[in-house]
Amino acid sequence: MLHSLIVRAMPLVPRPIMRRVAARYIAGETLEQALEKVEALARAGYPGVLDLLGEDIQREEEARDALATYRSTADGIAARGLDCHVSVKPTHFGLNLDPDLAGELYDDLAAHCGELGLFLRVEMEDHPTTDATLALFERLRRDHANVGIVLQSRLLRTPEDIDSLACEGLDVRMVKGVYLEPEAIAHTDPEPIRAAFVAACERLWRSGARVCLATHDQALGARLILALGKLGRRVEDYEFQVLMGVQEQLWEHWRAAGHPVRVYVPFGPQWRAYSQRRLSHNPDLLKAVVGNLLR
Ligand SMILES: Cc1cc2nc3c(=O)[nH]c(=O)nc-3n(C[C@H](O)[C@H](O)[C@H](O)COP(=O)(O)OP(=O)(O)OC[C@H]3O[C@@H](n4cnc5c(N)ncnc54)[C@H](O)[C@@H]3O)c2cc1C
Repeated sequence: MLHSLIVRAMPLVPRPIMRRVAARYIAGETLEQALEKVEALARAGYPGVLDLLGEDIQREEEARDALATYRSTADGIAARGLDCHVSVKPTHFGLNLDPDLAGELYDDLAAHCGELGLFLRVEMEDHPTTDATLALFERLRRDHANVGIVLQSRLLRTPEDIDSLACEGLDVRMVKGVYLEPEAIAHTDPEPIRAAFVAACERLWRSGARVCLATHDQALGARLILALGKLGRRVEDYEFQVLMGVQEQLWEHWRAAGHPVRVYVPFGPQWRAYSQRRLSHNPDLLKAVVGNLLR
């Protein structure tokens, strides 16, 4: 009940207050602000990932505008010589509108990033988009070596997806999955989601993939570090990935122990709509954000 009350009240919170709360998690509205944040993180020893906020666009023009901003983002990263890449949600490039359009835009961005020596990550959204996203990624990687994908340990299908994706040079960001999925197709309790995360990473490492461990769950991190040792993985085979503003002391802890840590930096004018949508769909996320702010 508290969750739905807070969610209903969110649109009433004045913009400056919302902006102040969001500032911890979102670099700003402009590309310039985002690049400055990535530079600041680089000075502190953390490489970055840039994400232009937006999803489920309804018009082709919006998808093409997103592509233009991502191309400028790649140019900005290259011009500043940053260790950073870009990460794109398929529905931000119009996957739900027209999968061919999304394929065309990813192809354009992958080629542009390739010319600049940069990497491009295809993100994973809710389960109705999984098949189309994997098909898009399979097509994309035929022509581009600089692309990677995201897999979600919550989904029961993930071990099979790992087996069908296996190939030389596969680069996967492993996540729990932020979308709450139906019981018939997903683990719904925390421990099975963690166990599936570790098992998926081991399966990926055995198949020769590089795995980005995107989590702020310290206990899960400890299990992943044990698995890394057990399988004799080297520092080239993995990195931790974390969200800007979330559990910074954990980044330090991992980095001090010699593990690479990369920070995901979201930006863009859509920050308010995006944050509200995300918080309203996932009560655990709202709890985490409020808990973080209180701490
Ligand atoms: C770099 C990165 C990229 C991601 N990309 C995707 C993607 O493409 N697709 C997808 O489905 N999911 C993605 N996720 C989200 C992921 O699936 C999880 O929903 C999210 O990371 C929370 O799970 P956790 O493993 O951190 O563990 P949890 O147990 O959920 O979190 C551990 C602790 O971290 C804190 N915390 C976690 N998340 C937040 C937050 N957002 N704000 C404030 N505090 C928080 C809380 O204090 C919590 O107690 C990504 C996550 C990261 C870190």
